[in-house]
Parts: sequence; structure tokens; C-alpha cells
Amino acid sequence: MPYPALKVDMKKLESNARFLIQECNKFGINPMAVTKGFSAIPEVAQILVNAGINTLADARILNLKKLRHIECTKVLLRIPMLSELKDVVEFSDISLNSEIKTIREIGKLSVQMGKKHKVILMIDVGDLREGVWPDNALEYIDQIIQIDGVELVGVGTNVTCYGAVLPTYENLSILSEIYQNVKKQYNIKLDIISGGNSSSILLMKSGKMPKEINNLRLGEVLLLGRETQDGTIIDSLYDDAFILQAEIIEIKEKPSVPIGIIGVDGFGSKPNFDDRGIRKRAIVALGRQDIKVNTYQPLDPGLDILGSSSDHTVLDITDGSHAYDLGDIIEFSINYEALLSVCTSEYVRKYIV
Ligand SMILES: *Cc1c(COP(=O)(O)O)cnc(C)c1O
Repeated sequence: MPYPALKVDMKKLESNARFLIQECNKFGINPMAVTKGFSAIPEVAQILVNAGINTLADARILNLKKLRHIECTKVLLRIPMLSELKDVVEFSDISLNSEIKTIREIGKLSVQMGKKHKVILMIDVGDLREGVWPDNALEYIDQIIQIDGVELVGVGTNVTCYGAVLPTYENLSILSEIYQNVKKQYNIKLDIISGGNSSSILLMKSGKMPKEINNLRLGEVLLLGRETQDGTIIDSLYDDAFILQAEIIEIKEKPSVPIGIIGVDGFGSKPNFDDRGIRKRAIVALGRQDIKVNTYQPLDPGLDILGSSSDHTVLDITDGSHAYDLGDIIEFSINYEALLSVCTSEYVRKYIV
């Protein structure tokens, strides 16, 4: 078997999805599963759909294209590029939007293609990434509902991203207000009121989510069990549905401090070394081309990552739980950033158990 490899545990992922669907449903919320963390590998997305997920969402249209054979609603999360709109209409049912010009173009193409494309208008409640300013929301909505080929199905917001602004009852109530105003002024009942990402889970569980919020877009908490407001692992969720494996290509006893004049390392920084005497070291075939430093941890608590270069990770295995051999596989837990990068790396094999 080729390594490095990302091992996806189907049972654990399925269990995470089932648990989150159940939790969200208790609060009147239908979760979308965000697939970008695993680059929308169709076999993995299918596990989520089998668990009861009815909507898959991704930031990239190329990823949604991979999911075209899976039966469910597809949502494009990133504000569409003008240059990709034909694919947007073809491969997504709903897209998140904030520009009238883009929505008009989507409308034109939809009409041409004999489709009706659904739009969620993004509202910026303070995080300062995408979205229209709340004061202008009704002006936008007034224009969107007049555009042929598109249907306004909801409003949404993104928090805990660029500005790290946390979701609260107050800032999410901005969406409720818009929902109520649209109902009053236009007699339109918006279907989807999307109150954020994994960072909204704690607010939901505390029962303080405005009652109009009926949707969350969940990536990290679903895949890695991690709530992103303070980074805790949610009880009953697995944080190890994705495990990275790398193979040992060298084992040697060496001093812990390099011999010679220390300059800068392969990436321009000056390293520091603790003198711990002669240590047993292993090199695994996994490096920065696949994964960033400090985003992966050996599952064996006795192992330490000493450093990495583009193609190598050097570990201290002196205090390992057992004596490692050449050719052995070392397993690592990974964070969300690491999951994104190893899934993007063509050098990392992905397999489901
Ligand atoms: C990536 C993304 C999400 C998912 O975020 P998580 O923190 O992983 O849950 C939700 N919404 C949008 C718009 C995104 O781009």
C-alpha cells in the first residue's frame, strides 16, 4: 500500500453526522454538510448522505462537480466568480451571493439553460468577510426578487472567520429581523435562514439561537468533532474519523543538536535545539508539500515531531510506546487545516475503512 495515506473511518464519520443531525433537529435546524475539508471525495460525501444529510455544500464548484452523481441538494458556499457562473448554474442548486451583478448574470444563464437557480443573500453581521450590510439588505432583496431565473430562498451570515466575531443572539437576530421584514413587505416566507458554521453549535446547544435560524453549514465539527468557538471536542463526537499515516524510511541514533555552524533551515528560519544527548530518531516520508508544521500530532504520546522539510518529518521515537522498525507506519491526528492540505495533496492516498 502506498503512503502517506489518509484513513477515513466510515463508522465514526457516519456517527458524527447522525449525532449532529439529531442535535440540530432538536433546535429546528437542518444542517448542511460542508465537504471542502475533504476536497469533496465522493465516497466520503456519500457516507454523510447515507447518514441522513440532505444538503452538501462546498466553496468550490470543482468540488461540487465531483458530487454531481450524489442525490441531494448542492450548495456553493463561496461567492461565485463571474467567470464560473455557467458551472454554478449547472452544478449547484443554491449559491450564497452578495453582488447584484453576479445574481443578474446567474439569472440570465439560468433562463438560457432552462433552470431556476436558488440564491441565499449573505448578510455581514460584523465579521467583515462576505455579505451585504444589514441596512442595505432590503434594497438588495427588492432587486433580487425581480430577477428572472433566480429565486431568493434565504439569507445567511458567516461569523468567526475573517474578524473572528462570535455568533450571538444579538448578531444573529439581524437575520431574524430581515426574515420578518421580508415576510411583512413582500409576503415571502424565506425557507433558509443560515446562522453560520461550526462555531454556532455552542450557541445552539445553549438554546439561545434566535428561533428563525433553521440552518447551519457544518464542516469542522462534523469531520473532526471540534466546535470552533473555543476548540473543544463535542461530547459524543469522534475527533479521529480522519487519521494520517506515514511510513518510516530511516531509524538512527543521533545527537539532538546538529554539528556545525547553524544558519537558517530550508524555510528561512533559524532553528533552536535542546541538548538531550543521543536520541533515537525516525524519518517518515511526509513533508511540507503535504502538510504544514504544527498541524499534525503522533497518536503515540511518546513520540515527538522534531521538525520537517518538504518531504521529510523527523521524529524522536526514544520514548515511543514500542520499538519502531523501518517500514512501520506512524499514525497522526490532524487538525482542520491539515485535513484541507492533505486532501488537496495528490501525494496522499485516501482510503475508507
Ligand atoms: C467553510 C465554510 C463553512 C464551514 O465552516 P466550519 O467552520 O468548517 O464549519 C461554512 N460556511 C461557509 C461560507 C464556508 O466557506
